[in-house]
Amino acid sequence: MKAVCVYCGSAEGANPIYAEAAQAFGRALVAANLALVYGGGKVGLMGVIADTVMAAGGRAIGVIPELLVDKEVGHTGLTELHVVPDMHHRKKMMADFSDAFVAMPGGAGTLEELFEVYTWAQLGYHRKPVGVLNIGGFYDPLVALLDHTVREGFMRQTYREMLQIDGDPAALIARLKRYHAPAKDKWADLRENV
Ligand code: AMP
Repeated sequence: MKAVCVYCGSAEGANPIYAEAAQAFGRALVAANLALVYGGGKVGLMGVIADTVMAAGGRAIGVIPELLVDKEVGHTGLTELHVVPDMHHRKKMMADFSDAFVAMPGGAGTLEELFEVYTWAQLGYHRKPVGVLNIGGFYDPLVALLDHTVREGFMRQTYREMLQIDGDPAALIARLKRYHAPAKDKWADLRENV
């Protein structure tokens, strides 16, 4: 594993624990010799983790669409900043650069990015680990909803377990490193039932 893609809020959230954990996760990435791949902005938790990685002597690679350079204040102090035409290019480049994906707390944008890579892992488009940094139990309601989807028969436990969940930065990185993708994708499983 060389680079981890981190999705996170364009806000810092209502509680200082989120920014503190973003700093801790940034430092943990540098300690594990992992580059940060992220949305390229200076705002919110995005800016906090990028600043932390750069200050700790690590590598931060930003990928930002032209339209968002002003809105998210494109970070000019990164190892690399790629300005791309649109969101599709951004997400593809972030995914291609990365060996694992992590969502920290965030809003709809963060959740969309998390679910895209999570569902693509289920479908077998990639075999990279996907996790959430569950700061202060932020993602507990999401985990409860995923468990509910399993109980209600809309998701197999195998795919639920693909999502790595940990509140501790170093422990989450260790989980990502240990991860092995399921042998079968969702479609192979579904075909067995018809
Ligand atoms: P948010 O979690 O809503 O604060 O969004 C975090 C970041 O996700 C935003 O700053 C955007 O860069 C990105 N984002 C927002 N909407 C989307 C989307 N539909 N797909 C991918 N990324 C998004």
